[in-house]
Amino acid sequence: MGTPTLLASILSAGEGDDDRGHDTPSAASDGELAPLASFDVLPTPTCDRIVRLAAAGSGAGVALVTGDDFGNSVVRSAVGLPPGVIIGGRAPSWLELERVTGEPSSGAPIRDGHGAVIGALVPLTGTGIANRPHSMLQELAELASQEARLRVDLDARIRIEDRLRHSTLHDALTGLPNRTLFMERLSHAIARSKRRKEYLFAVLFLDLDRFKVVNDSLGHQVGDELLIAVAARLQQCLRTEDTVARLGGDEFAILLENISEISDAGRIAERIQHELAAPVNLSGYEVFTSVSIGIVDSASAYGLPDYMLRSADMAMYRAKASGKARYEMFDRRMHAQALARLQTETDLRRALERSEFTLHYQPIVALDTGRICGMEALLRWNHPERGVVSPGEFIPVAEETGLIVPIGHWVLAEACHQLAAWQRTRRGSGAPLSISVNLSVRQIAQTDLVQSVAAALQKTGIAPESLKLEVTESVIVENPTAATGVLNDLKALGVELYMDDFGTGYSSLSYLSRLPIDAIKIDRSFVSQMDALDRHFQLVRTVLTLAHTLNLRAVAEGVTTEAQMVALRQLGCEQAQGYFFSPPVLPDAAAALLAAADS
Ligand code: C2E
Ligand code: MG
Ligand code: MG
Repeated sequence: MGTPTLLASILSAGEGDDDRGHDTPSAASDGELAPLASFDVLPTPTCDRIVRLAAAGSGAGVALVTGDDFGNSVVRSAVGLPPGVIIGGRAPSWLELERVTGEPSSGAPIRDGHGAVIGALVPLTGTGIANRPHSMLQELAELASQEARLRVDLDARIRIEDRLRHSTLHDALTGLPNRTLFMERLSHAIARSKRRKEYLFAVLFLDLDRFKVVNDSLGHQVGDELLIAVAARLQQCLRTEDTVARLGGDEFAILLENISEISDAGRIAERIQHELAAPVNLSGYEVFTSVSIGIVDSASAYGLPDYMLRSADMAMYRAKASGKARYEMFDRRMHAQALARLQTETDLRRALERSEFTLHYQPIVALDTGRICGMEALLRWNHPERGVVSPGEFIPVAEETGLIVPIGHWVLAEACHQLAAWQRTRRGSGAPLSISVNLSVRQIAQTDLVQSVAAALQKTGIAPESLKLEVTESVIVENPTAATGVLNDLKALGVELYMDDFGTGYSSLSYLSRLPIDAIKIDRSFVSQMDALDRHFQLVRTVLTLAHTLNLRAVAEGVTTEAQMVALRQLGCEQAQGYFFSPPVLPDAAAALLAAADS
């Protein structure tokens, strides 16, 4: 709307830009809309049209005058102006708006929505002005007033929309562009690089190292301050045409546009690391932070923004894994891995409905009697092309995609069903038999896990204590309070809880004593070497003492030799499983093992 006037400055005050350039952190958080007290809401064509109508209707000269933001009256349009008075220039005194009194010196007033005079339609006769405003002028001035009011309303609406657009595309905490805006710009960059081969760009994926520690130890407020400080430092490292966005949590992404060579991206990553190395002062604390960065360049874009961001994310994980506070470039090998993973994910989505899963069962032996007392259900995926895929390969993917929830549901139902079937055929002969089912972190976080376990018990009619649910220590580490709640609820159903792979995770003794668990499973990495390495033998012995002190039973995993079995029995370990007894086998083979043991 025309010149850089009061209107423009009101409009721009407190507004961040909506699609280019960089916003300051304060930009996103301005308050109320400033009221429009503008004198130039009427565009020049409107002024011209009204003046021409007025002049034609009255047969005399007419001028339309409005005020500018310095308090001057300006001639906006006129017919029959005396010499020396120019359109767009300051009005002579006899054309001045008497804004102090709220009335024009003569002519028909143009008013805003609050009734304030913002201009006037003034008849010019000969060299001077007419004394009495003509009624037609009054009507035309009213028309101009209406248009002014409409424009002010429209303007307010546009500003609200702009504000909304800004908030949907920006992160409220840091004021940085958010994921949506980042992806939009990334798509543009990809399109540009397809048109112009020489156009190079890169995406950097950043994740703060140990941000959780700051959050947990100093509180969320300080965590937020750190994120704001990091956002500001990142902006300092970049040119205006680059985009830095906050993707969520402590993750940031940077789009480096139009770089001259790919190695520029590495140099910028180094600069960022250097900038972030200086301590940040937050509410009186000196906080040190560092960042792990993954970089992918446009040459590896493969035309897909999502894929590109994921690739940078993968490279970032590599940087974390190789020691943090460093950067890694996405390479061909990672690309091959990414493709394979994507394929696994796609195939996994169909596996359940195509009944590609089976359960294998591995016997668990009571060491005092040497008889099978339970079976652990272990999931296998019979992939139509790849053959049997091991859980180590697909369970992490199922976890990440959430597919573990329906899969886990199936495992639970199937395993309970199998146990009920075995119990029916054995008809009370032999020692009582239990079934062990593995639960993943994601399943523990799922709200209806407890109901789903209860339903499986009810449907199959097996005794609750014959179901052993195995969880790993990572379940507890991620969200101790929630996990403890779920474990207590499961325990209340009467099922037993086993701590799987004990010794490989955090092995926090405080969890061990606080959680409602019944037994621990000593990881096979210790058991399989206990006869070869005295250190491992001592370790197993210590873990067993610990378990028994806490009134927990112990199961040794991965027993492969008779010597290990004998040693474990002497140390008082209650149960064991491993290739020495049997590898995991199909249900029929497992039934045969049971029958042999019972005969
Ligand atoms: P886990 O629960 O610790 O299961 C024991 C693993 O050790 C099994 O591997 C088993 O085949 C293997 N194993 C048993 N005895 C020996 C031995 O003597 N030597 C050696 N080298 N290995 C032995 P598997 O079946 O590949 O399963 C790997 C992991 O995948 C399991 O570890 C468990 O964490 C997970 N998993 C398996 N099935 C499920 C499932 O239905 N749900 C969930 N959430 N996880 C599952
Ligand atoms: Mg297990
Ligand atoms: Mg285990």
